[in-house]
Amino acid sequence: GILIRAEDVTKNYPDGDVPALRGVSLDIRRGEYVVIMGPSGSGKSTLLNLLGALDTPTTGEIYFDGQPITSIHPLHKLRSDKIGFVFQSFHLIPTLTAVENVQIPMFVKGWSPSHRASLATELLESVGMSHRLNHFPQKLSVGERQRVALARALANDPVALLGDEPTGNLDSKTGNDVLDLFDRLHQQQNKTLVIITHSPEVAERADRVVHIRDGLIEREDAR
Ligand code: ADP
Ligand code: ADP
Repeated sequence: GILIRAEDVTKNYPDGDVPALRGVSLDIRRGEYVVIMGPSGSGKSTLLNLLGALDTPTTGEIYFDGQPITSIHPLHKLRSDKIGFVFQSFHLIPTLTAVENVQIPMFVKGWSPSHRASLATELLESVGMSHRLNHFPQKLSVGERQRVALARALANDPVALLGDEPTGNLDSKTGNDVLDLFDRLHQQQNKTLVIITHSPEVAERADRVVHIRDGLIEREDAR
């Protein structure tokens, strides 16, 4: 079935000189691995933010699991329960350790500290970070920081993982490790992945590549 549907969405930022999106329709199937490519400024981040309910379209509608997101209240609950985000920069909290950073999304759940800590430890183990649980971000390599951010994005077991150039700051070896993790999430846990990238290596791993240009879908390649 369709997990996320964008139906003829446009986006005009209040202070933008040109529309960021000019009528985009896109269906993301449950369990699909979709990559979004396109030149800088073409509207990729805007589209991803709409698909992940971080922002709302100017016109058109986004449906999550068949429900128009404009009818979902409160919207932050959809984001926190169903969607995980990873970005090019990691937005880790510098004063918290790796295992504490991963627990941030769990605080709203009312889980016990020991449950949170053990789940966060498991998540860090799953991304190969069991040896860095109590390190602060500053003491971690760039690739390690991205793995902590990924573990945090998975903290609430989201159905969909959305990434805005998640390997953009990583060297190719580290980037490939993160891509291997994405493959595992996709193949073993049936996660839906929507990833913005400039990298052909990332695109190669996806089920479908959506090419955006000037706020429109230019073409789609199924793989
Ligand atoms: P991409 O991710 O492909 O680089 P974006 O979605 O970030 O593209 O941007 C698309 C267009 O919208 C660009 O012209 C950009 O300058 C503009 N834009 C993005 N975010 C904002 C914003 N918050 N306010 C105004 N304009 C924005
Ligand atoms: P990244 O490369 O990490 O995606 P960007 O440079 O695309 O970073 O955008 C970083 C932030 O700045 C985003 O939140 C985006 O919405 C905002 N932004 C991008 N373009 C503009 C713009 N022209 N005016 C205002 N905000 C913008």
